[in-house]
Amino acid sequence: MTTEIYLDSNATSVVLPAAISAATDAMGQRYGNPSSTHATGLKAKVILDEARACAARLLGVGNGRLMFNSGATEGIQTAVLSSLVALRERRDAGEAIGTLLVYGATEHKAVPESLAHWNRLLGLNLTLHQLPVDHEGAHSLSALREVAPRAAMVCTMAANNETGVISDLGGIEAVLADSGSQAYWMVDCVQGLGKLKLDLSSTRIDYAPFSGHKLNAPKGIGMLYVRAGAPFTALIQGGGQEAGQRSGTENMAGIAALGAVLAALERGDTFRTQAELCNFRARLADSLRAALPGVVFNNPFDKSLPTTLNFAVPGLSSRELMDVFDAAEVRVSAGSACSSSKAAPSYVLDAMGLPLWRSAGAIRMSFGPLTDEATIAAACARIERCGAALRASCLIPSDRTAVPHDGLLQLGVEGACSWMALDAASRSCIVIDPLPEHAARIEAYVRCQNYQVQAVVSTLPNAGRAMLVEALGRHFNRAADADEYGWPSNATPVALGNGAAASAITLGEQVLACVAGGQLRAYLLGTLEAAQLPAVSVRFAFSAGLAQQDLRDIISERTLLCPTRDEQNHFCTSINAEPAATIAADAQLDSAALDAFLQAHPDACLVDVREPYEFAATVAPLPAGRMALSVPLSRLAEYASAWLRAEQAPLVFFCRSGNRSMKAALCLRRLGHRHAYSLNGGLALASRQSHAQPLPMAA
Ligand code: PLP
Repeated sequence: MTTEIYLDSNATSVVLPAAISAATDAMGQRYGNPSSTHATGLKAKVILDEARACAARLLGVGNGRLMFNSGATEGIQTAVLSSLVALRERRDAGEAIGTLLVYGATEHKAVPESLAHWNRLLGLNLTLHQLPVDHEGAHSLSALREVAPRAAMVCTMAANNETGVISDLGGIEAVLADSGSQAYWMVDCVQGLGKLKLDLSSTRIDYAPFSGHKLNAPKGIGMLYVRAGAPFTALIQGGGQEAGQRSGTENMAGIAALGAVLAALERGDTFRTQAELCNFRARLADSLRAALPGVVFNNPFDKSLPTTLNFAVPGLSSRELMDVFDAAEVRVSAGSACSSSKAAPSYVLDAMGLPLWRSAGAIRMSFGPLTDEATIAAACARIERCGAALRASCLIPSDRTAVPHDGLLQLGVEGACSWMALDAASRSCIVIDPLPEHAARIEAYVRCQNYQVQAVVSTLPNAGRAMLVEALGRHFNRAADADEYGWPSNATPVALGNGAAASAITLGEQVLACVAGGQLRAYLLGTLEAAQLPAVSVRFAFSAGLAQQDLRDIISERTLLCPTRDEQNHFCTSINAEPAATIAADAQLDSAALDAFLQAHPDACLVDVREPYEFAATVAPLPAGRMALSVPLSRLAEYASAWLRAEQAPLVFFCRSGNRSMKAALCLRRLGHRHAYSLNGGLALASRQSHAQPLPMAA
């Protein structure tokens, strides 16, 4: 049984079972070439004719053309090529064609990219002009009115893929008509198919591309509508299929499948009604509001397709939200699918003028008209689970005090790090080199776990700790004055490993000692032995600029050096660490080999390096049906210190994709642990179905 809940239907959708049967039939029973005149060919041609006739009725094609192709990207190319070739001919004939290629600021990238490409190739040298949208994502009709007289082509969309915002096509048409514009008009109807009523031939739309996979047909099949009388130039020439409009033997499996979807749409017995879809959206939105306090929706529901929600949560990045949803097996995307591997802000939301946190933190949750009641109910329960996981990890506010963490915590942003040394038993902690970007998160963490902060120290003088100290309020220990590094005046004297005198503050059973070196400071975290901090007892050293030789006789080879900058994701290093280049390539373990590896190494430890909220939200069994230790990368230094001091049992790191676990394995190998591995492909590729396993427990 799959635990996956797919809420990314604007990226692509599940294929309708009837479409799979139709495709199978077209490949098995009716495999003929529809251009063949024998009976086998004629049987295939029926599929083609029926699908086209059904599409023509549904879309109101009238006397226009409707051709099958590979999808919307091809349809967009064909529309742009057709328009631009006609424009060139008209201009060559001395006609004034306008100077602008106008496209909506929130169009799919296929549109401006095709306009730029064909404009360049055809040597038209028209100017690409972005049509602004308002804060709700609607095209500015006043801006269109201004440019319409100069527009050679206008490209807008029926509904946006990131927000579901529905365009005012009637309004756009009226502006074009009022201005007497001769511009060709393309409307990208990809997200509208099956969700908006379209009667194309009753409009002045010249071109309308569609993609089957956005409405439960497979990928690689699409359609293009061309208005009767609109110019047309074939993109692909050859055997003359599709009435010479799109050569190449037809994708009959795709056409049969799309035909089955269109037939279901026409019958009206398969897809949910608008009212049902609105109800589904309302339930998801209610669950999000309850689970994620402060959630804001980036799309106006009353002007959007009911199947798309786009939201952001204050204090959470889209990466964090994506990760927690993915752990709960809820598939959503950050902004649009094409750009979701990067944490870049969404250009669609930017165009709507939303603040950066909403644009860079956006999550799109989209379902299709095929979605059922049970999926929505399950999705709501998973959303609740994600909220609980984020609350327990102190990433969103909670009424309850979270279970305190112990040990070292590394917070990283763009190569820079803040560190926190935590002692759960005494509920106290010390913050080292806090970055301004982390102030809010550190404060939330301290409040949520109810720590008392003993000191906020820096390795450089006056390093901007004041804001954090202020924000910590009663959680900051103000018993003593502090110097310009934040070092408290009541620190007690200790002797370091080389006999030098230093001062230290206590953190539970450990101390943090301060080492001065000119303008720079280093801090050593370890355990005192008779008022001394011998080199072997120093577990961690924090130093911004002090060279390793300055520390050499006061730390040992087991001391982990915790950097204030970590561009390469090394997390920590040591005086004997191996350079990255010498690390063996056998650090990758394939999931197929995992069972055998674990049997051969019963002492191996499986380590989940995802963040605690991902671990807590996980619903599927872990690899090989085993329990795993949760050691997020932010805690790797703490655990690495312990692993390096113990018997070296094999460590198999895993994460969602294999990326973070590889960093962990390399870190351990660099530090001298010979048996550190990363599960290649991560949880995404691991076979997890066969093992029934209770939910993992937090470590
Ligand atoms: N236009 C819109 C609005 C889309 O959402 C997409 C797909 O994401 C496309 C065009 C391109 O479609 P395809 O990749 O199927 O060619």
